[in-house]
Amino acid sequence: MNPKIVNATKTPPISDLETEDTVLFNEPVLITLISVDDPYTTLRPEMIGLAYGWNKLPTKQYALMIKVWENESTLNLIYGVDKWTLNTDYEDIIDSIMNNRPDLSPIEIINLFKEIFNFLETELIKIKTETNISSFNQWNDLGSAFENEPLYATCPICNNKIVLDYYYNSALYTISEHYVEKHIGHYSKD
Ligand SMILES: [Zn+2]
Repeated sequence: MNPKIVNATKTPPISDLETEDTVLFNEPVLITLISVDDPYTTLRPEMIGLAYGWNKLPTKQYALMIKVWENESTLNLIYGVDKWTLNTDYEDIIDSIMNNRPDLSPIEIINLFKEIFNFLETELIKIKTETNISSFNQWNDLGSAFENEPLYATCPICNNKIVLDYYYNSALYTISEHYVEKHIGHYSKD
């Protein structure tokens, strides 16, 4: 029997896990580690990883199953023991990577996410200025009022115009997609 598919959850879906040992997320979700109760672990706080579901352990504990951490560890986390945050804010970046590059392995997805995150952190400020939007919180509020006026940003790497949506998450998706299509490797550390 195939495991049940659920939306990514912060806490274990206990009713689903009464009848099944494993549930899978409909797509991997990015998490950030806060702490792990293992003195020998190679994981450090702030590391990011990709989680893909929940598993019920023989001890009756629940484990968040990890595809990979940024240091290539695959240690799972125990609910109620280890601590982490679910980064659903970056769902659209992960989506744009997975839709455009289904060939990438989990560790390649994490590395590309870090690249895009650097791009956004370094360059999005310029885009923000160019569009005269003073804060990103304002972005979603503008949605309906400006629907008929296209919003452009100029890519700071290639100078191409990118048509953006007034909804912040869609704009993030579009900018990430542009980066994935044109600039992979630009922000690599090596
Ligand atoms: Zn570009």
